[in-house]
Amino acid sequence: MSKVLVIGCGGVASVAIHKCCQVSEVFTELCIASRTKSKCDKLAAQLAPKTATKLTTAQVDADDVQQVTSLIRACKPDLVMNIALPYQDLTIMDACLACGVDYMDTANYEPEDTNDPAWRAVYEKRCKEAGFSAYFDYSWQWAYREKFQAAGLTALLGCGFDPGVTQAYCAHALKHEFDTIDTIDILDCNGGDHGYAFATNFNPEVNLREVSAPGSYWEDGHWVEVPPMSIKREYDFDQVGQKDMYLLHHEEIESLALHIPKVRRIRFFMTFGQSYLDHMRCLENVGMLSTSPVDFEGQQIVPIKFLKALLPDPASLGPRTRGKTNIGCIFTGKKAGQDKTYSIYNVCDHQECYHEVGSQAVSYTTGVPAMCGALMLLTGKWSKPGVYTVEEFDPDPFLAALDQYGLPRSECRTPALVD
Ligand code: NDP
Repeated sequence: MSKVLVIGCGGVASVAIHKCCQVSEVFTELCIASRTKSKCDKLAAQLAPKTATKLTTAQVDADDVQQVTSLIRACKPDLVMNIALPYQDLTIMDACLACGVDYMDTANYEPEDTNDPAWRAVYEKRCKEAGFSAYFDYSWQWAYREKFQAAGLTALLGCGFDPGVTQAYCAHALKHEFDTIDTIDILDCNGGDHGYAFATNFNPEVNLREVSAPGSYWEDGHWVEVPPMSIKREYDFDQVGQKDMYLLHHEEIESLALHIPKVRRIRFFMTFGQSYLDHMRCLENVGMLSTSPVDFEGQQIVPIKFLKALLPDPASLGPRTRGKTNIGCIFTGKKAGQDKTYSIYNVCDHQECYHEVGSQAVSYTTGVPAMCGALMLLTGKWSKPGVYTVEEFDPDPFLAALDQYGLPRSECRTPALVD
């Protein structure tokens, strides 16, 4: 019997809410709150006839700690699921601390305004010290560890697929398959086709910022940073086929480097089609991916926000997208003194997701783990005070929940390796 406040009602949140409503015995009450309340009302009206979960809705600007605090006090949830944008992570964490409520999200903090001088000063220092230049990193949220510990509250960070399930796969490999892990390659393949020349599968602003940034990987105890899209590999993905993939910086590398003992190298690759890359390069060359405001006919316009308004809404891709995603990890390491390779991954079909919850597989593969992470917290399987990433918890009940609620794992003990 639990009451949950979900903040955000976009592509990912909509899937997570559908899934919570399928587990009404745990999620007895859900309050759906977002900036645009009409979206919450529409979703609640659609789900109410099909679920025993009691649904309410609210309007909130989650950039404002006071508004979130007032909403939590009015709603009295056991858990706040932040499925808005990474820009709101810190304000929602502050509100959870003020009200004494557990917290979780699906992506680590980055600021909306990367030109803010106070943020930039910290960012530039971190780039030099840490050795990677992505806008997002865990330092902002790890700074809340002591506060959450002292309050006896749990904050679960990055509980989507990647980050999220990929870290549970690493914890599973360490617990059941290896004595020591030497290398981890995380491979994110979207073999889906939506028929548009260019569209992003989740929030365009967050997505384009991520893929246009320099790539980086962890090797021998430090970061190696390379120009965007400069390391390309081909891989033959189960049930998808041969795809080009590119090395990106990704947030779970940062926490895995700390939590997987003696790991020598961690890389992250994502597949991109040629049309996506050509469009992205062109948009970047003309300045459309810039996050700095420009003056246009007396108005300040942020180019990437304007571009977001032009691109298809990721939530609208559901009916059009066909094909499958294949996301998982390949490991090398040692077991009982012998060299070993192992891979674990999930294959998800865009149309099957659409028929179940009205969304494509990228939202589905993020929303289902968010629900399963909430389930872990609400049923006490993952409760410990502090701020944690997924690999810091027991992977067994989480992977069992994923198997049950729509993202079953596949395993291979002789996977092809990425050179
Ligand atoms: P969307 O843009 O579809 O949805 C974002 C939602 O947040 C919208 O409902 C939006 O409201 C709401 N929102 C934005 N700003 C505020 C605010 N200030 N106050 C209240 N609500 C706000 O994004 P997605 O669903 O695609 O992504 C959601 C999250 O999931 C993101 O953090 C993304 O990075 C993460 N993600 C994680 C993945 C993983 O594997 N871990 C993979 C994919 C995404 P409005 O409708 O008014 O705009």
